[in-house]
Amino acid sequence: MLIKEIVNMLTEKIYDQVVNRNPGEVEFHQAIKEVLESIEPVLGRHPEFVEAKIVERIVEPERQLMFRVPWMDDNGGIHVNRGFRVQFNSAIGPYKGGLRFHPSVYLGIIKFLGFEQIFKNALTGLPMGGGKGGSDFNPKGKSDTEVMRFCQSFMSELFRHIGHNTDVPAGDIGVGGREIGYMFGQYRKLTNAFTGILTGKGRGWGGSLVRPEATGYGLIYLMDEMLKGMGTDFAGKIAAVSGSGNVAQYAVQKINQLGGKVVTLSDSNGFIHDPQGISGDRWDYVMTLKNVRRGRIKEYAQEFGCEFHECKRPWGVKCDLALPCATQNELDGDDAKTLIANGVLAVGEGANMPSTPEAIEAFLSNNILFAPAKAANAGGVATSGLEMSQNSLRLSWSFEETDAKLKNIMVNIYKSMSEIIETYDMPGNYVAGANIAGFMKVANAMLDQGLI
Ligand code: NDP
Repeated sequence: MLIKEIVNMLTEKIYDQVVNRNPGEVEFHQAIKEVLESIEPVLGRHPEFVEAKIVERIVEPERQLMFRVPWMDDNGGIHVNRGFRVQFNSAIGPYKGGLRFHPSVYLGIIKFLGFEQIFKNALTGLPMGGGKGGSDFNPKGKSDTEVMRFCQSFMSELFRHIGHNTDVPAGDIGVGGREIGYMFGQYRKLTNAFTGILTGKGRGWGGSLVRPEATGYGLIYLMDEMLKGMGTDFAGKIAAVSGSGNVAQYAVQKINQLGGKVVTLSDSNGFIHDPQGISGDRWDYVMTLKNVRRGRIKEYAQEFGCEFHECKRPWGVKCDLALPCATQNELDGDDAKTLIANGVLAVGEGANMPSTPEAIEAFLSNNILFAPAKAANAGGVATSGLEMSQNSLRLSWSFEETDAKLKNIMVNIYKSMSEIIETYDMPGNYVAGANIAGFMKVANAMLDQGLI
């Protein structure tokens, strides 16, 4: 039998084991499948990884925590949510990865995100392991005091499992500066220690400049490198962006700075189409709408007299660049075909796993430049890593210095992926490039550290 076939049988066996051991966790299965497919050529060349059962070990989290989060609403009513923290892999550094507060959260979502985080963090070149956490709590429609009471209760359990050398959570969907603040305050009170146990902190109390912008900016820095590799850039390009949260907001700002035009934004109620472009006072409006008033994107259409498409996603709009920045599986095979038929040039994943396997297959087989999430949105965690460094040094770097470090990290990610693509002769396949580059680093660290 050919080595290729033997390796394929092995990865299929591992996949079946994962499915049986983690029943119903479909997002986790999806994330595992993509990585297993990508690393098959590596296993063919590195029998030492097979012998040491690196893959069987890497798909099993080091530790999974689930806990009760009781809290009281403003009327005295009592609610109970479930909290999660999955500490997936710490071979190259303390567990690092965000907390998501969203009603769709369950163990399978946290595991998929934690698994992806291992390779993403490795790609940044910084010493960070992979983890993820969150809760099925929905912050939408809650008052500030309700969110505070929830965050305090959540941290009252999480605090015993994290630490600046152990596990350093950050934000994600539903967890921004407000939530990080409440959780940090509770941690400080419980431990009587001011340490960098969360990233995404406020500027005046240990936060890093550029962290709010980092994921969106990083996405555009990476795509800019990829476009330059094709002899083009953002100038004059039309972009369709989904979501209207942290990642989308700063991706839009950076595209505007580079001379592109963004014509869509969305939330879970639908998308707006503004052919004039979301820039200047229109971008300012989005920032206030989403971060201060916490309103719906539909209000943008009312304010500026453009179209709002209820319960629809923006992938039918003709564009050069498509940037899914909302959530997982928000761009499917049919959406991909529509984008391709409309002449899309490049797709960059700001969100985690926003494209379904069918969509990725369509982009790759049609030679569309495709920046996978692990690489494309790594700027957020990279800047979290820079925040950790500043906290340890008890120093604070300027905006320019931090932004330059972020840009450098994104350029290096592009280079690592490109080198892998060349080594394994997979032209244009940045999915494999990102998965293999991240996997190699963690696998080698696990080999070096023995059977733990
Ligand atoms: P936010 O909570 O700031 O914004 C999320 C946006 O996505 C909102 O517009 C939200 O709309 C929309 N959205 C969420 N769920 C759905 C859904 N099921 N259907 C349609 N729209 C939805 O989150 P972020 O911008 O921080 O995160 C967006 C994505 O980027 C996530 O996948 C996250 O994991 C990923 N990411 C974020 C990083 C960061 O630094 N923030 C780092 C790396 C990845 P609505 O308000 O209606 O819910």
